[in-house]
Amino acid sequence: MKYVYLFGLGLTEGRANQQDILGGKGANLAEMANLNIPVPPGFTIATHACNAFLKEKKLDKKIITSINNSLAIIEKKFNKKLGDAKNPLLLSVRSGAKISMPGMMETVLNIGLTTNTIPGLIKKTKNEKFVYDSYRRLIMMYADVVMEKARNKEGVEIREKLELIMSKIKKIKKIKNDSDLSVGDLKKIIQKFKYTIKKYLNADFPDSAKEQFWGAIEAVFRSWHGKRARQYRKIESIPDDWGTAVNVQTMVFGNLGKKSGTGVAFTRNPSNGENSFYGEWLENAQGEDVVAGIRTPKPINENSKSTQTKNSQTLEKTFPSIYKQLIAIKNKLEKHYREMQDVEFTIEEGKLWMLQTRTGKRTGEAAIRIAIDMKNEKLITNKKIVERITPKNLNEIMHTKVDPEAERNNQPIAIGLPASPGGACGRIVFNADDAERWYKQKKKVILVRHETSPEDVQGMHVAEGIITAKGGMTSHAALVARGWGKPCIVGCANLNIDLKNKILYINEKKYKQGDWFSMNSSSGMIYDKKIKLVKSNFMDNPYFIQLMQITDKIKKLKIRTNADNPKDSKLSKILGAEGIGLCRTEHMFFDKKRIRNVQKMILSDNKTNRKEAIMALLPYQKNDFYRILKTMSPLPVTIRLLDPPLHEFLPSQKNQELIHELASDMKVSSKKIINRIIDLFEINPMLGHRGCRLAISYPEITEMQVEAILMAAMKLIKEGEKPKPEIMIPLVSSLKEFQNQKNIIVKIARKIEAKFKTKINYKIGTMIELPRACLTAHQIAKEADFFSFGTNDLTQTTFGFSRDDIGSFIQNYFDEGILEEDPFKTIDINGVGQLIKDAVLKGRKIKKRLKIGICGEHGGDPKSIKFCGEIGLNYVSCSPYRIPIARLSAAKNCI
Ligand code: PEP
Ligand code: MG
Repeated sequence: MKYVYLFGLGLTEGRANQQDILGGKGANLAEMANLNIPVPPGFTIATHACNAFLKEKKLDKKIITSINNSLAIIEKKFNKKLGDAKNPLLLSVRSGAKISMPGMMETVLNIGLTTNTIPGLIKKTKNEKFVYDSYRRLIMMYADVVMEKARNKEGVEIREKLELIMSKIKKIKKIKNDSDLSVGDLKKIIQKFKYTIKKYLNADFPDSAKEQFWGAIEAVFRSWHGKRARQYRKIESIPDDWGTAVNVQTMVFGNLGKKSGTGVAFTRNPSNGENSFYGEWLENAQGEDVVAGIRTPKPINENSKSTQTKNSQTLEKTFPSIYKQLIAIKNKLEKHYREMQDVEFTIEEGKLWMLQTRTGKRTGEAAIRIAIDMKNEKLITNKKIVERITPKNLNEIMHTKVDPEAERNNQPIAIGLPASPGGACGRIVFNADDAERWYKQKKKVILVRHETSPEDVQGMHVAEGIITAKGGMTSHAALVARGWGKPCIVGCANLNIDLKNKILYINEKKYKQGDWFSMNSSSGMIYDKKIKLVKSNFMDNPYFIQLMQITDKIKKLKIRTNADNPKDSKLSKILGAEGIGLCRTEHMFFDKKRIRNVQKMILSDNKTNRKEAIMALLPYQKNDFYRILKTMSPLPVTIRLLDPPLHEFLPSQKNQELIHELASDMKVSSKKIINRIIDLFEINPMLGHRGCRLAISYPEITEMQVEAILMAAMKLIKEGEKPKPEIMIPLVSSLKEFQNQKNIIVKIARKIEAKFKTKINYKIGTMIELPRACLTAHQIAKEADFFSFGTNDLTQTTFGFSRDDIGSFIQNYFDEGILEEDPFKTIDINGVGQLIKDAVLKGRKIKKRLKIGICGEHGGDPKSIKFCGEIGLNYVSCSPYRIPIARLSAAKNCI
């Protein structure tokens, strides 16, 4: 087995695609050497050597021999020797796992400096200050990485103690920069360092180059099992058995004086994606100085200047020929990797060395622009673009968000479930009426509720964001907010709301109505401060538009939307919807003008009165459907017949004010209304008198709604449009329920078609949202033209979890490892998914081409979309603002 891979000096043995064994850093160093880019020569100790070391708790003889042999080759080629008094070789030792793990990167620089080698190096470099500066750096890093962390002496925090020594001396001497310390200062610091190390770590700093060398290698291996690394791997789901590689490199020095320096750069701008080289550098410094923020780095060129560095000298001006070389290397790397790179470089006495290259991290905006630009530069294909862009990239550009920089400076006061992404800032209010009132006074508000109900819709609409103490990812608040693209956090269990006194308690802290809150609903964080927001203008972003065109060329799955008004329908079309997959008709009933007729219907004592009240809704409904069908024509529009239980249309029994108001409008007694509310009370309304069950009891509701849909369609046909209504029956559990409703629909349709002597292109299908419907899908398919999975209710009824109450215990389920993901957000493939799969097979056995889609909230979730594509659904339907992510996810299914 090969344990060590050389690179540089024409001896390179590794390649970029060997990240598994060489780690990201090692593989890319080898690749740069292969490209004849100057890298300090060295070798990479493979990840399997790390695993062997961790298993045996010592280095195997074979590994030791391989490392010694490689070191000897480097020494010979370089004509320097580790520990040699006259011509000492100095080395760096760095970790490098397969993917970058910023929490655990361990580095020790300047290995080989000892009391024996120091005089020789001073003689060679004629730079005493440089040598002692390098020595104090070695001691600091070695004490921290090798002597403290690797030996599990956590808690001593030796690095802090050593830094304190430095800053005390700098303070006494009134020195600002480390580089201004004199040789005398450095010697004094080194002496104090050694004393402090002995005192706290109970060991001497090693004065043998070899001991330093092996100590550093073993420490890097051990760091794989360190606390930070283990935590990071758990969060990022990185397997424990990967191990880390170790990169041993000859040192190059950026701290050799005025002709030396070091820097980091991105081959393109990582924040907006502009194709311009972007980076920072420092004169007379080693790498850690740039990242540690001790000195303010300077821009490498004009493009990299900020307000803070607008007067700084650029690398381009200081070292024009080095800058030119750097540009050539940047171009070579981008062409080779076909990806934006993040590079580290050092200039040693006028010579440029590259220390690292890797794929650069970037914002969502930059990711999209870079991918599209690279395609136009013929570096990558459309498929590669789709592979690279993530749903997170899209989410980032589509929503107003809290300024990440400002957010970092604040501590969240509470965390909930991120139900609808974005950022908002406003004064807290605790009921919908106050929200509306304050909104009219031009105040920005955040509505904070235990949970929301249809009565709150108006207040929710005017709020900047919505926070609820209860509820899960498909609760009323989550669903409505997502539909509007409005920030929403739900299930925030530690909110304690005193509605009566309009006070909110969070962990004993008291907040009153009007206090400023900010929320990052992409992560679920809530802040008790005003935090700056960054607005989105993604619809005008030409790169976003191009990206969407590309996804449509690749994807097979159709993307529909959940919309129940002409405005959302229009928006969804702009965002690329290929039809409406769910129009929830009850949302039209909640309109202030219409709700009285709905309430009249509910309060009616006999069929005639009920029918009269229902028929009063016909013109409204007809007009709604007309406008929606017209907006979408010739695309299909799935309209669901009334679904929620009737009690949702009446005030709650506690709300005396609304009950009185309703009684006076209806000219009935409050008692009558309260009695009806009591009549309608159900212990478990989600499993109660709703969906088709309601329509079976009150067929006149179906009759009115179907007449409205088909009359609207007929009007459009006469106007030359091509409406495609798809009438959907909710909460069906058996064929007989379906047939009962279908008979009503067909009867009305025949009547209208006969009257106008015109055929309407309509379909009758059902929601599949109960386990029994899945199990009997082969029977239902005989009569249904289409199926649409209502995965919100299907998840609720399969797990038996209430979709409105799961927020109160889901965190325990995560903590205990019982659930890994919220099943109301991502389809539970093993349970709910299995039912869906069976229903698809059963349905298509009867009708090979049965049209099947999904309209639950999972229709906008990337992982669930992947599943839908795999089991052969025709479409997914999601709220308008999730359409771009759905388009991207569907395209990802096809590459
Ligand atoms: C569903 O249950 O998945 C669904 C789309 O219907 P609703 O959320 O309106 O119950
Ligand atoms: Mg449902």
